[in-house]
Amino acid sequence: MSTEKSISENVRAVLSELPHGVELVAAAKTRTAEEISQAINAGINIIGENYIQEADAARNSVKYAARWHFIGSLQKNKVRKAVRLFDMIETVDSVALAQEIDKESAAIAKIMQVLIEINSGREMQKGGVLPEDAAKLIRDISTLRHIRVDGLMTMGPQNCIGDALRPYFATTRNLFNEIKQQSIAGVEMRHLSMGMSDSYKIAIEEGANIVRLGSRLFGPRL
Ligand SMILES: *Cc1c(COP(=O)(O)O)cnc(C)c1O
Repeated sequence: MSTEKSISENVRAVLSELPHGVELVAAAKTRTAEEISQAINAGINIIGENYIQEADAARNSVKYAARWHFIGSLQKNKVRKAVRLFDMIETVDSVALAQEIDKESAAIAKIMQVLIEINSGREMQKGGVLPEDAAKLIRDISTLRHIRVDGLMTMGPQNCIGDALRPYFATTRNLFNEIKQQSIAGVEMRHLSMGMSDSYKIAIEEGANIVRLGSRLFGPRL
């Protein structure tokens, strides 16, 4: 049960312990507009959504200002909606997807901020680009005018929890630093999004400056 009191208590508790410079995304899949509104009122500035339809509904009913990040797997036929709904897309992993985002963003005169999702666990079915292919992907995307790469995002392997995720976070941080040092024109490399409810403290130790929390803020998903 997530009462209003406990959502705001959870949000305040997490915000109070986050180091300066680390941003908190409230991962809102399955949560109601009411719950999202409570989180924003307690100090959340960024809402993360996995599904376009859910995000569309939430954006229509949540009356408080926030930035919205897409953190799910994005299909090409949903890009048109996504560029209208979101301030950042955290899960870009191919040139084809980036080109579609560029085209749809150009149509509404927007420069879409994106993160590149890294498949740090090298899982077959998983979204994300393999670490060794990331620099080339970012160079290719950097030539598109209506999309701007702002950093990296990773999940880590599905079956890993807690401390077992540390090496995957470290791999992604090292990659982040390498790409930053390459100073690719038009690429900012400011954001490193890693860590969820059971791993965000470890992710921060490994260099994350965006963490994405769902159950720690809203309670368990039913
Ligand atoms: C659901 C989700 C989260 C948050 O997961 P919790 O374990 O509930 O904190 C973070 N990132 C992504 C991409 C998610 O889908």
